[in-house]
Parts: sequence; C-alpha cells; structure tokens
Amino acid sequence: MHEINAAVMREPEQLSYETVQLEEPKATEVLVDVRATGVCHTDYHAYTNPDTGRPIVLGHEGAGIVEAVGEEVTAVEPGDHVVLWVLPSCGQCEHCSAGEPYFCPTHAETRGSMPDGTKRLYDDDGSIDHFFSQSSFASKTVVPERSAIPIPADVPFEIAALLGCGVPTGIGAVLNTAGVRPGDDVAIFGCGGVGASAILGADLVGARRIIAVDIEERKLNEMSELGATHTINSSTTDPVDEIQELTGGVDYSFECIGRPETLEQAFESLGRGGIAVATTTKDTGTFEIDGGAFPRGVGIIGNMVGSIRPHEDIPKLADLYLDGRLDLDALLTDSYSLSELGDAFDALRDGEVIRSVVRPDE
Ligand SMILES: [Zn+2]
Ligand SMILES: [Zn+2]
Repeated sequence: MHEINAAVMREPEQLSYETVQLEEPKATEVLVDVRATGVCHTDYHAYTNPDTGRPIVLGHEGAGIVEAVGEEVTAVEPGDHVVLWVLPSCGQCEHCSAGEPYFCPTHAETRGSMPDGTKRLYDDDGSIDHFFSQSSFASKTVVPERSAIPIPADVPFEIAALLGCGVPTGIGAVLNTAGVRPGDDVAIFGCGGVGASAILGADLVGARRIIAVDIEERKLNEMSELGATHTINSSTTDPVDEIQELTGGVDYSFECIGRPETLEQAFESLGRGGIAVATTTKDTGTFEIDGGAFPRGVGIIGNMVGSIRPHEDIPKLADLYLDGRLDLDALLTDSYSLSELGDAFDALRDGEVIRSVVRPDE
C-alpha cells in the first residue's frame, strides 16, 4: 500500500484533498509517480454530473515517471517517462486486433474501476472509484500497462500531459479520422483545446485555408498564431455564408464544441464530397441536416479520441514537439497545484483557458 495525496470528489462539484491508500500494481499494471495531469471537459462533465459514481478520483490525462511494475509488464520499466493514455484497451479484441484500440469496449465495460473490475484506491470507509482506470488527480496512480505510453524524457511533464487525450483528439481528428491532405480547405468550429489542436494538425499537414470559427475575438486572435489563415466571429458574421464565399465549401469541417447548431453549420459549410467531423465525444443531441445535400457526396462522421493508436502516435507527436514542429507550448495556458483543481475547473467552465494542467508535485 502507498499513501498518496488525491483530489477526492465525494459530492458533485466538491473536492477534498486527502491522503488515501493506493494498492500495489497487479501483474499487468504499473505504478506511476504523477507529475502533471491535463484538466479536460470530460473531467468537468463528471465533476458537475450528479450521476457520477462517488467517491471518485477524477483525472485521465496524466504524465509522470514509472515507479514500479507488475511481474508480467514488459513495455515499460521503472524510471521511464510516460503519458497516461485516456482509453484503456485490451489488446486482444477484434477492434484492438484491427489496429483500432479506440473502439475497444474495455472502458465502457469497466467504468469506475480497473479493467479487471477491481479497485486500487481506498479510504478508511472502503473503496474509491477510478476514472478511465487512471484517476491521475493524485500524487501516484496505478494504471494498466497498455495505458502507459513511453515518451522521451526531455518532453516537459506539462506538455506530456497534453498528449493524454484532448490534444490528440483534435490533431488526430484531422490527421487520422478525416485524413486531411496538403492543399485541402478546412473549417474548425469552436476554438477550445480540441479546436486549437485541430488547427495545429491542419497546419502540420499543410491544409490550404484553415478557417477558425468562434464567438470570442480573443480566442480567434490566438488561433491565428497557431496557424489559422482566416477567422470568423460567428456572433457577428454568418459562418456558413462566409465559408462558402471564401472557399466554395470546405473539404473538411470539424465541430469541436458538441452543439447541434454548430454541427449543422459545419455540415452546411462543406463543398462537394466534403466531410464534417463531430470531433468531441459529447452527446450532441438531435440536429437537422438537409438530405438534399447528399447527392453532393457530403457526409458526417464521428471521432473517437482522434482515432489515435497511442503506442504509435503519441511518441510521434512528442518527437514533432521536440523538433519544434508542433507548438504544444502555445496550447498550455495555466498550471495549478493539486489543491487548486477546483479553480482550474472554474477557469475551464469560464472559457479562460485553451488547456491547463495540475501539478500534483507542487
Ligand atoms: Zn480491445
Ligand atoms: Zn480528456
């Protein structure tokens, strides 16, 4: 058993900073000393949702140093720097075998626990729920071996934490899910963490016109620095008209908010053969699209965490960062201590950040 510091949620929107017990890793698990964890809308949604199982330790975008490994672990060893990938996967099901670990049902089947259905977190009253088999708003965590992705040790931990979920969701939506090619025109609706990451991805791949759409001028200015070639403030300008006028319809549009109205706009902004990508995993609800558009060969598709294959893709993104080709520093707005997690959630709610991280060691 390890005594660790953790942000425990016992009631919705209430955090207590406690010392709790963490069990040793089992055979195929690793113990990680957490150095940074991204603060994501998925955490915030669980934080505010009265149906979230409690008590629970949230956090699913961790980065840190492997401290100990179970006896069957082969992929990492103590001392390795790792990104803790959001979605646990089994490595054996038909989706994992097909190179699509993002469709592995492991997480959906094991909410609140480790993939084997058991827990590693305890207080004096009993067990504490896990989040994505990770719970990294804590000084240490135990995760499945397959969730710990080794990366070069010279990537700062705050940047490594960005590679655990939200940023690859946006970059991967462009590179993997859509497969944008050099010269394609793209529009990005919503310029939070995922949208900003999609702009970085579009710039990386050499998209021609990269059109950022948001209602906040401040965010749009930031997107120009990340690579957006055009910006549209949709509080004053109709983005569909403007995009159609600029491009005749884009090849790909990315909806990065999770709202029915913006999904409709993303679809209506497409040119012939264009594809709209619903980038977030949020339940968008019902939306209306005009079936008369389909003879133009347009489509709309979902995006499961950027169709990322973490063991292949995360080290590549880390290398692109180290080579100066992927400006992840520009996405990092703020760093908080673990006991400031509530403040980090408030800033996320108020739209003040692109991405922020919590540093459990500070
Ligand atoms: Zn699987
Ligand atoms: Zn996330």
